Amino acid sequence: MGPTLKSMFEQTVAKFPNKEGIVDVRLGTRWTYQEWDEEVNRLANALTDSGVHKGDKVSTVLFNTAEFATTLFACMKIGAVFNPINFRLTSNEISFIIKDADPKIVLFEKATAPQLKAIANERTHIGFWTIDEQRDVALARNYYDVIEGVDRTRPDYVVEEEDYYAIMYTSGTTGAPKGVLHTHRDMVDQALILTATLRLTNQDRGLTVAPMFHCAELHCTFLPRVMMGASTVILHHFDAKEMIQTIREEQISTLFAAPTMWNMILQEKFSKRDFETFRQGLYGGAPMAPALTTRLHETLGVQLIQAYGMTEMGPAITVLLEDEQLMKAGSAGRALINHEVRVVRTLEDGPAEPDDICKPDELGEIIVRGPSMMPGYYNRREDSEEVLYKGWYHSGDIGSFDEDGYLWVSDRVKDMIISGGENIYSREVEDALFEHPSILDAAVVGEPDEMWGERVVAYVVKKGDLEQDELEEFCISGNRLARYKRPRRYVFVDELPRNASGKLQKFKLREQAESVTE
Ligand code: ATP
Repeated sequence: MGPTLKSMFEQTVAKFPNKEGIVDVRLGTRWTYQEWDEEVNRLANALTDSGVHKGDKVSTVLFNTAEFATTLFACMKIGAVFNPINFRLTSNEISFIIKDADPKIVLFEKATAPQLKAIANERTHIGFWTIDEQRDVALARNYYDVIEGVDRTRPDYVVEEEDYYAIMYTSGTTGAPKGVLHTHRDMVDQALILTATLRLTNQDRGLTVAPMFHCAELHCTFLPRVMMGASTVILHHFDAKEMIQTIREEQISTLFAAPTMWNMILQEKFSKRDFETFRQGLYGGAPMAPALTTRLHETLGVQLIQAYGMTEMGPAITVLLEDEQLMKAGSAGRALINHEVRVVRTLEDGPAEPDDICKPDELGEIIVRGPSMMPGYYNRREDSEEVLYKGWYHSGDIGSFDEDGYLWVSDRVKDMIISGGENIYSREVEDALFEHPSILDAAVVGEPDEMWGERVVAYVVKKGDLEQDELEEFCISGNRLARYKRPRRYVFVDELPRNASGKLQKFKLREQAESVTE
């Protein structure tokens, strides 16, 4: 029987009982690994007292909290399946996930109570536990009342590597969210490869500031840190000022943040001294424009690593390491050593053939296989068979490998714009716009065009005075963009629609663009 996340957590506790395991800035909680383990045991016992056993699901609709981290490991201890739900989803979206996952218990907090009222009234057999005083949801129990006086000894459950550890719903950026299943074995592999890649040690102090419900934070940095006995400081949610202050005060050495969060940090006031203990920043989950990478290097002077991947793969599949950032800015890097990544030719109908490999610089679909690949989607056999065709996960991303074996992600198939029969990859246009110093954020989408099928429209967040004419001139100058790729229309906005993980919600921009052209 191989290691599980449960056995790895218990090993860390045994090795580093007195080391600071977790700090929750909002609550002011500081737990050593030993204290945290006791909290985890207490909750695990409370869950079993409430009828949760191996294979049952437990959902959370929580921001970043110590209770989130405790629930995660409590589920692992009893073999329950952890289901972290995106706290920014609407009431309907959360209801959809809860109906699909069918958990026994849902943990929530004051801020997420409004989104749960409807489903709590409908599914009265589910236990709703709130971590805050207020019980805005009908029949909700208070988490602290539930665990009060419960035994802190380790529950006696056998958990095996092939047991499901979690169901994580995809962002729903391109359609209805799908429940991605992961086993203990998948996640042990993902956590181990990340500890090696990030060269984590028990001396590291990590900051959890990106949402913990998303696998980029949870699997790429949080779990690997716990496996190594490093300390984690948790911020309830992202706030650039608070983040900089916490990095300084808590002597943070490593963290993950989405590109949009790094972009917001750049717009804050800080000094290099704030980052004195900081050795490494991980980014990913969405493309980062090369101009932004360069700005981060110049202003912060911190070492950066990029990860590219998707929930279905655990998520990380490629990384661009510190010393490759400037040389290959904009690339997603090379495959993690336990993963195989290919770019293959797409077909009009049906999934791409894994052996029909593209030549260097030829664009195709990115496919991947490796030990942290999901066994499938929960309750979605056909969807699973389609994306896991011939044992390779078909990502729906378009990209290419260069001559040096670096992967370049151009677009999602669904975001590609086709104008006059030519494919336009939104990323290329966005990267060009980001080179303009007055552009703070940019996204391009296609809008219907009678003559060309689609034309490019750019949504831009600007700093100071900036007019469409100047941007048109900028795209022409230096041969930045071929004529057919240049935006035909610019829309200046205060902010772009992004989900809680910082991903652009281009479907919202497309809807907006279509309503203008109708
Ligand atoms: P849905 O499948 O419901 O649309 P989603 O694809 O947003 O949700 P995630 O697994 O969170 O779900 O996102 C994975 C996608 O994010 C990848 O397929 C890719 O398009 C994008 N992505 C992730 N990391 C990077 C990166 N470093 N560079 C460019 N794109 C990235």
